[in-house]
Amino acid sequence: MNAITPTDPKPADENAGKSGVPDLLISYEPATGEELWRGRVSDIDTAVKTARRAFPAWAAQPLATRMELIRRFANEVRKDFEKLADTIARETGKPLWEANAEVENVINKVELSIRAFADRSAQRKLDSAIQGMMAVRHKPHGVMAVLGPYNMPAHLPNAHIVPALIAGNTVIFKPSEKAPASGELLARCFNRAGISAAVIQCVIGGPEQGQELVRNEGVNGVLFTGSANAGVAIARKLAARPDKLLTLEMGGNNPIVLWDTPKVTDAAALIVQSAFASAGQRCTAARRLIVKESMYDSIMAEVKGLADRIIFGAPFDEPSPFMGPMIDNFAADGLTDSFFYLLSNGGKAIKHLVRPDEQKPFLSPAIIDMTAMKDRPDVELFGPILQVIRVETLDQAIAEANNTRFGLVASMIGGQPQEYNRFWANVRAGIVNWNRPTISPSHAAPVGGIGLSGNHRPSGHYAADYCAYPVASGEVEQPRAAIGIGLK
Ligand code: NAD
Repeated sequence: MNAITPTDPKPADENAGKSGVPDLLISYEPATGEELWRGRVSDIDTAVKTARRAFPAWAAQPLATRMELIRRFANEVRKDFEKLADTIARETGKPLWEANAEVENVINKVELSIRAFADRSAQRKLDSAIQGMMAVRHKPHGVMAVLGPYNMPAHLPNAHIVPALIAGNTVIFKPSEKAPASGELLARCFNRAGISAAVIQCVIGGPEQGQELVRNEGVNGVLFTGSANAGVAIARKLAARPDKLLTLEMGGNNPIVLWDTPKVTDAAALIVQSAFASAGQRCTAARRLIVKESMYDSIMAEVKGLADRIIFGAPFDEPSPFMGPMIDNFAADGLTDSFFYLLSNGGKAIKHLVRPDEQKPFLSPAIIDMTAMKDRPDVELFGPILQVIRVETLDQAIAEANNTRFGLVASMIGGQPQEYNRFWANVRAGIVNWNRPTISPSHAAPVGGIGLSGNHRPSGHYAADYCAYPVASGEVEQPRAAIGIGLK
């Protein structure tokens, strides 16, 4: 379990935060229940003051210097690769091979962000209608708060931090309260690369510290990745603050539409990867499989057969598991309740959700046919539960895919090019794929969603856009003007 827990028998006044909340944060390994890390909750006001003081000098560094320091950061991550991957695996429970892939993504983000800055935020000179030049240059916003989720505790916050630093912002990074150890290690790599702990700080805490960052007057922007509930709460807080930049990367209720294809085995592999990688703890995971009725029997036999073969286990198990546990028992309890709710409201289990040990958060992959339930709950079930819905026509499939308030990813598997064109044109999502899984979006492209999935500020390649604002300048070396009309 991961939680903010009071621990050492310290004097009461030392152990209590401002609101009486204990000021120690402890991270436990989901797979074993063992304590991994503990640290004190940070003082947010002090952190913001430090970041404000550091901002002018960092913003005034030549861009080339900031890029050079960011490249050194990538080298520091390479040096610490094993330790960082090991910590991510222990802290989230994900298999080691997957934690290794996350660290690779952290490193790759550096060159991608340097390219993205050149593409999206480079200085441009345009011919002006009058004499002289029109220049477009970009300025950093100031102090950016990055609020990270637990499921990719290094890669996802890093996807905001790196472009924010390149653009000249100072950054206060609050990792998830469920993954502080991974966040702290990531931040140290920046600091060892020569980017000071004032320019990129890691603060420790939970939602309360997140809220303090959101409302602190010294914070110019909030770069959030997490649940729609928290994202909407933050958007409400900032509703009357158009001066504060807010970018929201939230969850999804992502559909895969399965249409005619002779390649049923490949289709099943794409579906299983999309639904069950990271035990379904990815924002891009497929939650709903929308199947053409005539394909149902053949595809479900393959999908179930493959899901039955999935090994779920602890991060360092041999042979390697496909997926690990839920982040904590609380999450596993919630998913179990949700599965039974679906079952008792018209769902037909194709593959039951199994929890081998009630004391631990491991869950098996589960598949449930929900066609008979008319008002299906449009919520993100952040775990290994795939809901199946049968349809007759492509129009019904597209309508069903759009039957959600979210809009992160939608994939189509099978179908002819003209059918995919119809799907692409009518489905509502920030990422629309054909014969590709819903997961693992490319950070060389924009990554973001619409509806409850985001606020039209995608990350990935377009992160450069929200990390700096464009300034237009008309510039002539000498004043030269005359008024040619309307004078006595
Ligand atoms: P979460 O919303 O519980 O927490 C995310 C971060 O926000 C944490 O650092 C948390 O402390 C902070 N926080 C929570 N409530 C807050 C509030 N009211 N004010 C300020 N800060 C607050 O999310 P999680 O459980 O850690 O992560 C899983 C969720 O994140 C899923 O919904 C998933 O879909 C989503 N996610 C989205 C993306 C994306 O790119 N769109 C990527 C990964 C995860």
